[in-house]
Amino acid sequence: MRKKIVAGNWKMNTTVSEGVALAKAVAEKAEGLNNGVGLIVAPPFTHLVSVAEALKGSKVGLSAQNCADHEKGAYTGEVAVNMLVDAGCAWTILGHSERRQYYGETDEKLVVKVRLALDAGLGVILCVGENLDEREAGRHFDVVKAQVENVLFNFSAEDMKKIVIAYEPVWAIGTGKTATAAQAEEIHAFIRETLAAKFGKELAEETTILYGGSCKPSNAKELFAEKDIDGGLIGGASLKADDFIAIAEAF
Ligand code: PEP
Repeated sequence: MRKKIVAGNWKMNTTVSEGVALAKAVAEKAEGLNNGVGLIVAPPFTHLVSVAEALKGSKVGLSAQNCADHEKGAYTGEVAVNMLVDAGCAWTILGHSERRQYYGETDEKLVVKVRLALDAGLGVILCVGENLDEREAGRHFDVVKAQVENVLFNFSAEDMKKIVIAYEPVWAIGTGKTATAAQAEEIHAFIRETLAAKFGKELAEETTILYGGSCKPSNAKELFAEKDIDGGLIGGASLKADDFIAIAEAF
């Protein structure tokens, strides 16, 4: 049985004290959750140490939103994977569309970052997804296939066990426009087929694939009912503990 996960990407939101309060609220409400869903929160870098402390002893895992593409040294403004581990992270999100779009994150760079993260012992949530022009031109399958191949085909089956994929159609992120459950499911199934062609059916079946893009309590149930959707990467709705937990309860 592959793992079901609901992960919250807080992006560049909350102060440290707001983040700690949010983490505590999520941790407290998570106590009542008994459906086997793994919860993860990804606060900004500045919050990690304090949020790790707030989550101690809880069921909620801690993730970063990005990491540096070098191990250490003269890279002003960057945060290395060993610093994330030291701060208490078990995960990092990589390849979010906002990083691809605004910060020039390329598939080539992601190969380096995924390697560094895995070698440091972090799990990786790798984001893929097409933008609106690509969807309207009917290129969504090609775009997602290329992202999966360009990054993940450089890794071994063993590495893949520590990688979760998040399919996030860019046109659905923060726009209120959710992909329909059928639109999401067809890409999730396609990602699984793409993985199966390289790593075999068994590994593809074991890989957790999350949906992200305006997922909220009102639509999570329908999305998570699809057979290839194993949970969600949640932006806006992860900033309210009640909504985040309600999404996790949708399983
Ligand atoms: C995201 O940025 O990962 C995301 C899914 O955002 P939202 O839920 O706000 O669309």
